[in-house]
Amino acid sequence: MHQIVDGSRRRGSGEQIDLVDPSTGEVLDVVDLASPQDVDDAVAAARSAFEAWSRTTPGERSDLLARTARVLEDRAEELAQAETAQCGKPIRLSREFDVPGTVDNVAFFSGAARHLSGLASGEYSPDHTSAIRREPIGVVGSIAPWNYPLQMAAWKILPAVAAGNTIVLKPSELTPTTSLLFAEAFLEAGVPAGVVNVVTGRGADAGSHLLRHRDVDMVSFTGSTRVGRTVLEAAATTAKRVHLELGGKAPFVVLEDADLDAAIHGAVAGSLINSGQDCTAATRAIVHESLHDAFVDGVAELYERVVLGPTRDEATDLGSLVSVEHRDRVAAMVERAKGYARVVTGGEAPTSGELARGAYYRPTLVTGASADSEIVRDEVFGPVLAVLPAADDDEAIALANDSVYGLAASVWTRDVYRAGRATREISAGCVWVNDHIPIISEMPHGGFQQSGFGKDMSHYSFEEYTQVKHVMTDITGAAHKEWHRTIFRTP
Ligand code: NAD
Repeated sequence: MHQIVDGSRRRGSGEQIDLVDPSTGEVLDVVDLASPQDVDDAVAAARSAFEAWSRTTPGERSDLLARTARVLEDRAEELAQAETAQCGKPIRLSREFDVPGTVDNVAFFSGAARHLSGLASGEYSPDHTSAIRREPIGVVGSIAPWNYPLQMAAWKILPAVAAGNTIVLKPSELTPTTSLLFAEAFLEAGVPAGVVNVVTGRGADAGSHLLRHRDVDMVSFTGSTRVGRTVLEAAATTAKRVHLELGGKAPFVVLEDADLDAAIHGAVAGSLINSGQDCTAATRAIVHESLHDAFVDGVAELYERVVLGPTRDEATDLGSLVSVEHRDRVAAMVERAKGYARVVTGGEAPTSGELARGAYYRPTLVTGASADSEIVRDEVFGPVLAVLPAADDDEAIALANDSVYGLAASVWTRDVYRAGRATREISAGCVWVNDHIPIISEMPHGGFQQSGFGKDMSHYSFEEYTQVKHVMTDITGAAHKEWHRTIFRTP
């Protein structure tokens, strides 16, 4: 498998690794990882493309992005199949969520590219006109995770290039395929060589080299909070601008007056989407004590009905996790939880039949864990939901906020006043009311606290990928200005 550098496919000159379908263990392809030299070449291509690209008009960029959206639509099935194969996710999810979400994002940024603006200009000093120019930053180095590789490539690339930057993206070494197909769509649509480059490589070598590169002006990272801290340190070496989208441990808060049926269905869908490998997935259900037992029974019953199956089967609800190593990490956390909590259902991987070959794990519901236990505090990133009781709204909100993360949360209630209080007091970048998971291109996504800073999607993402320049023009024509008196006592 190739890289996309300066508009061409080329093989990486680093180590070779297998690309594996984690749902079957089958080797799909061999990935030629990028060497530091490949990263240098990609950054050089992005640098040389920057001047011309940054001078294209918003209308030209908009037009090219609109064409990219059409190319992606034409290749939708190919993208869905590739996403499913490399991630082990069900084809229904790839077809109905990943691919259309990505196309919509491209279409949104095609429109948004024409609406980049600063504040109105004016005479804030009587002798000058001030104006604001919103300018691209330069070469962006982006690093993405494996959970939604296509959408993550879109979230990283689109605001950057729509604003006039050029980019080098390093997807996860586990899931490079759809990022490469995505980059090809830009080329097919006519986006010039060097604007979008993709290098496949491991974090510790290609990723680290990209982060520290002197010719990279900004780093945009989506991944774990642990690696996010490394990114900040690396960026400090050349004082790069940084955008971090990190981990999450989303609370799912069910208040006393909630519609229980809606909350149960919402919790099952919100915790199991993408097998729970979703940074905003519902992971801590905090349920009023009067509803706790009925909620647990309802979720357990639905968890047992969810169909784990072959990923290309339309009837499959849940695919595998991204790798056997990751599945084993999830399983180990649940095994430890069995020592201090109750596993109501799940808590195991299928051990016989076709699924035993893949990285499958059954939906797992945990009760009785304390608020400071590992399963409640740490990111599991698998199909695991812990349920905690709360005596009242005060305790529910306090438990929701008892986390180092702050990416997303939901509150379930029929009372507008309770919803209003919870949405104000829960500390997270997104709070849903009576739903959990939907995202839309027009609205920002990003974390509070150790979930990172900066926004993906929406107009807000332009704040990350542009810099504001103040241009102040003298309008008097006077050679000797009044303010010169601070230097020359007499004019
Ligand atoms: P990860 O942090 O292990 O890896 C993310 C990326 O960083 C990969 O491309 C990896 O190769 C690279 N990397 C690893 N070590 C590196 C290093 N030392 N230097 C440079 N790059 C390095 O995360 P993951 O396991 O791929 O993804 C899961 C994590 O991503 C979860 O924590 C999840 O919450 C988070 N995530 C967050 C969002 C968000 O929008 N906030 C979205 C998706 C995933």
